[in-house]
Amino acid sequence: MESCMDRIKRDIENIAIITATPQKGSTRFSYSDEDRRAREYLFKEMEKLNLEIKVDGAGNIRAKYAHGNESLPSVILGSHIDTVANGGKFDGVTGVISALELIRVIKEKKVQLKRPLELIVFAEEEGSNFGITMLGSKILTGKFSLKDLKNIKTYDGITGYDVMSNFGLDVDSIGRDVLKRNDVAAMIELHVEQGGILDLEDTPIGIVKSIAGMRTYKISLKGVSNHAGTTPMYLRKDPMAGASEIISYLEEAAKEHALPTTVGTVGKILCKPNMPNVISGEVNFYVDIRDVDPQGIEKVADALLNKTNEVAKKRGLTSSVELIGESDSVKLSSKIIEAIESSAIEENYKYKIMNSGAVHDSAMLTNFTDVGMIFVPSIGGLSHCPEERTNYEDIKLGCDLLIHAVIKLANE
Ligand SMILES: [Zn+2]
Repeated sequence: MESCMDRIKRDIENIAIITATPQKGSTRFSYSDEDRRAREYLFKEMEKLNLEIKVDGAGNIRAKYAHGNESLPSVILGSHIDTVANGGKFDGVTGVISALELIRVIKEKKVQLKRPLELIVFAEEEGSNFGITMLGSKILTGKFSLKDLKNIKTYDGITGYDVMSNFGLDVDSIGRDVLKRNDVAAMIELHVEQGGILDLEDTPIGIVKSIAGMRTYKISLKGVSNHAGTTPMYLRKDPMAGASEIISYLEEAAKEHALPTTVGTVGKILCKPNMPNVISGEVNFYVDIRDVDPQGIEKVADALLNKTNEVAKKRGLTSSVELIGESDSVKLSSKIIEAIESSAIEENYKYKIMNSGAVHDSAMLTNFTDVGMIFVPSIGGLSHCPEERTNYEDIKLGCDLLIHAVIKLANE
C-alpha cells in the first residue's frame, strides 16, 4: 500500500508535469490550459474522497468534507496551484496536496470530527495574469469587487472579467459567494518557507507568528541626457548616479537604521534612453520595503524620502516619490499557534516560531477567523524558480502536524 509520503509525492509530481515550460520549471497561470488540467487532476482525487466540490465565480475551488455537524462553521485548509513564470513545483501545491492527504487520512482512520472541513484551492495567488497577488482570496473575502474585475487587465489588455468568463466561470456570481464570518471556524495553510532560515537551522517545521506588511514606492529622478564622451563630469546632471546613491543607501537604512526584521529591495529599474553611450535623462526604480513591525517600514521609508530629496538637491535633479502599493502586517492567531505548537511538542518535532516575509492567501482571512500557518523548509532558501525544492520527508512531517492541529480545531 502507498504510504502518506508516496501519495503526497505522487500528487505533487503529477501536478508539476502540468507546465507550459517543460524542463524550465512550473508555469501554470490561473485560467490557462495548464490550470484546467491541474484542476481536472485535483477533481478526480477529490471525487475519490466524495468531497462536495463547488467552484466560485473567481475560480476558487471549494471542496467540502461534510462530516460532523454540518450546521457548524468549517475548518478551512487551503493554498494555491498557480505559479509565477518558470516557478517551482512546491510553492502553493504543497499546501493543497497536504490538505488533500489530511482528508484521506481522516477518512481512512475514521477520525470523528465535530466540524466539517473545507479545502480551498485559491485562484490567481501569484498575480501572474493581472499583477494583483492573492486575487482569488481577495474576491472570496469581499476585498475585490465585480467592478474592480472589469477594470483590471492582463498584459495583453484583456479584462479580469473576460479572462475568468472565458475560462467558463460565472463571474457575475462572485458577490453572492463571498465568505461569511459564520461559515468558518479557523483556517490553516501549510506552505513552503520560500526563505532559507529553516534549512539553515536544520529545522523541519516553522510555525508562523506574523506575516510581514509591505510598501512599494516608485521613485523617479530626472536630469539631463547628454553625450557620454563630451560632457565633463562637473557639468552633468546624471539621474543614474543619483539612483545608485539612493539604492545603496536603502541597503544601509534597512540593515542599520531600522529593525532586525526590516528588509528593503530595489528589483526593478528603468532608464531613458537606456543607451551605453548616453547619460540617462530619466531613471525610475521601485522600492519594496517589508517588515512584520510597521515601525521598521516607517523608519526606512522616512530615511529613503529624506535621502531622495538630499540627492536630488545635491545633483540638480528633479525627483518624485509615489506610493504605489501597501499592505499591513498581520498577526496570526495565538490559539492556532498553540494548537500547532502543542502538537509539535507531543510528536517531538523540532520547530521554530517565525515570521513570514511573503504574504499568503491565509493573510486575507485574518479579519474573518483565527488563522495559522505551518512552514516546511525550502532547500537553500530558493523559491519562485525551477530549482525550488523541499524534502518530501519534511512535507510529511508538516502534513502530520497539520492533521494533529486540525483534529484539535475541528473538535472544538
Ligand atoms: Zn505560494
